[in-house]
Amino acid sequence: MMEYECCVWCGLKTEKSAGAVHRYLESSPGCWAKYGELLAREYENYEYMSVHELTVDAYALQHPGKESPQTIGSIYIHLASLYSYFMFGRRISELSSIRKKMTRYKDTFVWLTPPEDLKAITVADILESKTAVQHCANVKKWAEYLFETWGIHHSKIANILVTNL
Ligand SMILES: [Zn+2]
Repeated sequence: MMEYECCVWCGLKTEKSAGAVHRYLESSPGCWAKYGELLAREYENYEYMSVHELTVDAYALQHPGKESPQTIGSIYIHLASLYSYFMFGRRISELSSIRKKMTRYKDTFVWLTPPEDLKAITVADILESKTAVQHCANVKKWAEYLFETWGIHHSKIANILVTNL
């Protein structure tokens, strides 16, 4: 009989596995494997790759993990990236340098309590995309969903961005 498990953060149901997971982002092995599939699709095709930065931000913010120096930093950095994209209209190509600059302020970061429910869109929904155009549209929707769901903490991010970056 097949055994299943649900990812603790995104709720994705997959076959139970003892596979690898990320060092501090928290997911089921099945969810992490699906994310690996999605990344492979992006690395193999530049049209899919055009939204890669948003994919990385969305997955990290959907699987924030437990409080630790790494997870505290991860939330600020990925939320700053999405804030810059959605609120300031920064280009996707600028996001990795924005993330890097954000790390300079890590001494001011505190644990931002994750939203209760982050389960509306999962990595499996993005993998349903049949074309690059669909993929890009779905990743943007996914990233926007995570950005909005983390809305309660936007002002903390905005303060740093507006003052320093
Ligand atoms: Zn998950």
